[in-house]
Amino acid sequence: MCGIVGFNGSHQAGPILLDGLSKLEYRGYDSAGLAVRDGECEVEIVRAKGQLKTLSEKTNGGTSITGNCGIGHTRWATHGEPSETNAHPHFSDDRNVVAVHNGIIENYQELKDKLVRKGYNFHSETDTEVAVKLIDYYYKKYEHTPVDAINHSMVRIRGSYALAVMFRDYPDEIYVARKGQPCGDSAAAHRVLCERCEGA
Ligand code: GLU
Repeated sequence: MCGIVGFNGSHQAGPILLDGLSKLEYRGYDSAGLAVRDGECEVEIVRAKGQLKTLSEKTNGGTSITGNCGIGHTRWATHGEPSETNAHPHFSDDRNVVAVHNGIIENYQELKDKLVRKGYNFHSETDTEVAVKLIDYYYKKYEHTPVDAINHSMVRIRGSYALAVMFRDYPDEIYVARKGQPCGDSAAAHRVLCERCEGA
């Protein structure tokens, strides 16, 4: 299975995200990753194959990536082998959209073909990267809000999934969406930590 966490508040996000992911470790996973952003600064992304311990070591317990807003993920590979390249978060080439995803996008090949025709490049084997680039495509096409871009994408995506998304133009904001029950246990799988429920 898999897990998603998010944090936005007055503390450093990295250690809190790692702590959140450790609470979901029992679900099983093959890789993990974090994206953390410090206000208007460029988002920092760190991913690791294997145990959370490796991700924690790579980020010095989450402290080497600074910022108060971020998302984290433990992956159970469905599309593409367990690897650092396939680990989440995934991002558009200009890092306009950064996201983590649980579940499966059934029509990812058809959507990927369309996005390749539109000029998008893909670096992983995942269905997740397709969702990220579809959201980026609609965000830029309609010059609308994150919610519009996610809504347009959800109309096109078939499957059961949960997403946590960050947008370059919207620092200190995390957008989440869910359709169906991507991991069978939606309450645990899609736990989004925020300052109000921290430690709950
Ligand atoms: N289908 C996605 C992948 O293979 C997400 C898997 C998951 O739910 O962890 O990366």
